[in-house]
Amino acid sequence: MPNWLVLMLRIEGEDAIRLADVALLSYRHELDIRNVTLARRLRFRDGDGRETTLKSRRFVSMADLHHAAIEWTLVPENWSGRVEVISALDGRVSNGGVARYQQLEGRHLNPVSPRTFGPEVIALKTETRQSNLYVSQATRTRVFRGAQQLPVSRTLYQMEDYIQHVLAFDVRQGAATRVEKMVSFYTSRDPAVSDTLVRAATSAARHDEFAASFRRHSVAWDELWRICDVRAPGSDQVQLLIRLHIAHLLQVCSRHTADLDAGLPARGLNGEAYRGHVFWDEIYAFPFFNFRLPEVTRGLLMYRYRRMGEARAAAREAGFRGAMFPWQSGSEGTEETQRVHLNPLSDGWEPDLSRNQRHVNAAIFYNIWRYFQATNDLQFLDRYGAEMMLEIARFWASISHFSPERERYEIHGVMGPDEFHDKYPGAPEGGLRNNAYTNIMVAWLCDIAGKLLTQLPDTRAEALRARLGIGDDELARWQDMSRRMFVPFHGDGIISQFEGYGELEELDWKAYRAKYGNIQRLDRILRAEGNDPNRYKLTKQADTVMLFFLFSRDELREIFGRLGYDYLDDTAMRNVAYYDRRTSHGSTLSFVTHAGVLAALDPESSWERFLVALRSDADDIQGGTTKEGIHVGVMAGTLDVMQRCYAGTRVRDDVLYFEPRLPGQLDGLSFPMQFRETPMLVTVTGKHLTLAIHPESVSHPIRAGVPGDVRELRAGDRAVFDFSRDPEAAGPPDED
Ligand code: BGC
Repeated sequence: MPNWLVLMLRIEGEDAIRLADVALLSYRHELDIRNVTLARRLRFRDGDGRETTLKSRRFVSMADLHHAAIEWTLVPENWSGRVEVISALDGRVSNGGVARYQQLEGRHLNPVSPRTFGPEVIALKTETRQSNLYVSQATRTRVFRGAQQLPVSRTLYQMEDYIQHVLAFDVRQGAATRVEKMVSFYTSRDPAVSDTLVRAATSAARHDEFAASFRRHSVAWDELWRICDVRAPGSDQVQLLIRLHIAHLLQVCSRHTADLDAGLPARGLNGEAYRGHVFWDEIYAFPFFNFRLPEVTRGLLMYRYRRMGEARAAAREAGFRGAMFPWQSGSEGTEETQRVHLNPLSDGWEPDLSRNQRHVNAAIFYNIWRYFQATNDLQFLDRYGAEMMLEIARFWASISHFSPERERYEIHGVMGPDEFHDKYPGAPEGGLRNNAYTNIMVAWLCDIAGKLLTQLPDTRAEALRARLGIGDDELARWQDMSRRMFVPFHGDGIISQFEGYGELEELDWKAYRAKYGNIQRLDRILRAEGNDPNRYKLTKQADTVMLFFLFSRDELREIFGRLGYDYLDDTAMRNVAYYDRRTSHGSTLSFVTHAGVLAALDPESSWERFLVALRSDADDIQGGTTKEGIHVGVMAGTLDVMQRCYAGTRVRDDVLYFEPRLPGQLDGLSFPMQFRETPMLVTVTGKHLTLAIHPESVSHPIRAGVPGDVRELRAGDRAVFDFSRDPEAAGPPDED
């Protein structure tokens, strides 16, 4: 995007003030999370001894997706005189925020034209260089003393990729003068647009003044906080960071983006890392949206649906059937994963095989199903969701093969979420055999896929089957896979992350920690040493452990039971402990997963991991990755841990269950959520769960509660549940 932030001050015809050239008397930089507004306040003394206070506020409007604004308040402390403010739109931007991308092309905009519209509005049109989208911005800058607009003299300067107004006016000692730069944005992908330049200019001319625009922005956030706040009494710091995460998440995806055909980029919209690519990280964000702003999930699932054509082509070209969604993708939904990867430790380019993470296709299936369970959005399932799910199941059936010796289905040539293992040591080919996470996800999804058509009205199910050409043999194969996927084990009940993991060497973790300190990115360290992470029992991030994060104990029992493998009381505990010792958490997503899983096993260490995840961007714990863009999956994941793991929410058989397990550091937990269009306030304190159904709820009654105590709730109901009883003693929830 062109840079719309340019606002500079010249005093008495001198050079524009730069912080480096003045004596800074005070400086405060503040993010108002409640109003998602950035404020700065500074006092400085320039070379001529003039002291000035400058306050600024800026926001991107949550009320009107095309608007943003900056307000300056200038107070000359010990002088009066003439100043000039330069207000510009600058299309000469280059992406240079990620050091290791320096060798890549950073210019993404071609100039189209600058223009003025009337005396007050300047506008700039640019075009993205590869996708040929028009991006236009316009701005109207005015100066005020109190409510009074001041007359200013304006001079214009423009080039093909830059336009500025210089506003000259007098300021008086001790008097506050306000500068308001009101900005509008339009692209050629926006609805109801002809020429983006004219549209942006018209919109900037009609823009409210700052105070009114800010009020509307703030009211829009009020509404979002009413729906999305999470209250975690016990620690102000924890509360603050949770709200920071909510605010960031809602800036990346909100009702404004829901029908923009925008995906969920792994690093949000405020950094260049991963070049805006979409991975599987949305799996960490959907639980939050499903129960608050389900239209956001639906929009993001539609983003996938619109890219089914490419997913089908990718499957076909790789010799498979159905739809194979890419590991990393952008606008078109084609595979965008890089083939080489720069190791900053060695400065060498290394092969990157991470595209073999086919598990993204299990995540998409899982996301659709969880969205449907939370919303009962049959219309979405019918028109789009079921088709994606069936095509994904079909892909998995075709990539798997039946092993007559084992009498089980196997999947070869893929990777799990752990990116440190991309092949067997010394193997010429990428990929591993039987990644347990993938195989178990496939066993689960094949079971759902086999029953999916029964969820739809008969005629719709028939039509879909006919359209996709799904025969009885295919349905039978899925059912068979749900019972006979192969899961590797080694040792005593330890699930092997992939076949052969058990035979890998143990790493001397102590020695590596002593030598390198932070060993989160052991892959880079080992490779820079000329070694190969594939040789060792080490894991970048939760892989097998993901299973215990995504599925409840009952679900895992069922899946394992169907497969004919033991799922014992200590299966989760033993596997989590085994992998925990061998995980470097080289992706901060891993702290979220481990925090979530440990909630039921070891609350103390769950809380420790939770705090790491919660602080990971605020404290930039990976040493420089946050300025390359926030980690959206992690931010959203901390909210998911609160809701799904600490409050213990899950949907089963049309019932919303809670199994709260608050760590001792939380003095309760409270948040609004909605289940199948019924909004409610959830409060967990001590041993009690209170569900207060919104009195104005117009939807159907819902069924909710704790295992062993499920009730039907209607508008205005307030139900208190005691969850101190042992849920095991209460019997499995589906017996309620
Ligand atoms: C992680 C992936 C994640 C990606 C984008 C990688 O470091 O290993 O699981 O999808 O970052 O956040």
